[in-house]
Amino acid sequence: MNAPDTLTTLRPDAAANAQDLIAWPLIQTLVAFDTTSRESNLQLIDWVVGYLKSHGVESTLTFNDDRRKANLFATLPARDGNTTTGGIVLSGHTDVVPVDGQPWSTNPFAATRAGDRVYGRGVTDMKSFSATGLAFVPEFLRRGLKRPVHFALSYDEEVGCIGVRRLIAELAPQGVTPLGCIVGEPTGMELVVAHKGKESWRCRVRGHEAHSSLTPLGVNAVQIACEIVTYLTNIARGFRENGQFDEAYDVPFTTIHTGVIHGGTALNIVPRDCWFDFEIRHLPFDDPDEFFAEVKAYAERFLPEMRKVAADTHIEFDVLSSTPGFDTHDESEIAEWGRACNAADGHGKVSFGTEASLFHLASIPTIICGPGHIAQAHQPNEWVSVDQLARCEAFMRRLADRVCTA
Ligand SMILES: [Zn+2]
Repeated sequence: MNAPDTLTTLRPDAAANAQDLIAWPLIQTLVAFDTTSRESNLQLIDWVVGYLKSHGVESTLTFNDDRRKANLFATLPARDGNTTTGGIVLSGHTDVVPVDGQPWSTNPFAATRAGDRVYGRGVTDMKSFSATGLAFVPEFLRRGLKRPVHFALSYDEEVGCIGVRRLIAELAPQGVTPLGCIVGEPTGMELVVAHKGKESWRCRVRGHEAHSSLTPLGVNAVQIACEIVTYLTNIARGFRENGQFDEAYDVPFTTIHTGVIHGGTALNIVPRDCWFDFEIRHLPFDDPDEFFAEVKAYAERFLPEMRKVAADTHIEFDVLSSTPGFDTHDESEIAEWGRACNAADGHGKVSFGTEASLFHLASIPTIICGPGHIAQAHQPNEWVSVDQLARCEAFMRRLADRVCTA
């Protein structure tokens, strides 16, 4: 991401100690729940329901199919009773990526302070933002609101932004039309107004086995898969060398990558099966459907030759995930709110996907701004600096000054 220089200097309002942050107890509480995406998030959700209830705020939950996970949506009403129109959504996902096999020096499910850093799974991605927003609930309510403030906490973001789709689908039928949404993914507390989209697929090539001394009697699935992978590499090169660029991104062009490939069983057997996973991370103006249609058409060119040898050969594609890109106009009202709450002018664009695009698609203008850096997300010893947490708190305080009547 292109970092505006104005944001890299220490703010005078930065807290010196994690203990001085009003969100510190909530950060500790949220991190202590093991909400790895494969686990239930209901303990965390129940805790937040109880916390909000203790402040007189009701929550609405939307569950996944087996009811092991839930999204939470809660509204702090404006002083005039308005609960639906022109509000600000504070959005965060509750799930975290696994710690399996990672060498952690601290308990990942305990927010641990060491020097000017706080360690723990989710301290950056992205429980600290949600904790900070929730920590301001008493202040929002005490000062009274000019417009509603909504909390949107989702499940299963890390496995394809799955949960939030159900939460968003409930908003319009209930007449909830916010002014905008702030997604607190880690941006180093810089304002982000756009990110790339991502789609991924598995390609399965079914060939035909034969003794490797008799290759013309077989259909080599590994070799056909490799031809398709090479084709992907060539398209990727085209985007890199001749594509459309947007220099606001750290990687200013659309990228394509093959991440996993499996095929064959022994060198003396013409392999019957090979599969590989590939993805495109595209700028919002590049069309992933067009790319996929091209890849499919290329793959289909192999079929007549394959079927001359064996009729049951095939090449099939499964969609693994799809997250659209988004680009909020930097002149939009929510971007102006972001700049005001950050007390800074710059904005950036990032290559990683978030739930922001799904709010954007639902006609809710959205920005991304949260503490910590994406480089520290998903890592062993994930950390966030106390300064970043203090900046997040300063952001929330300025937001309170804008949304509160007193
Ligand atoms: Zn995240």
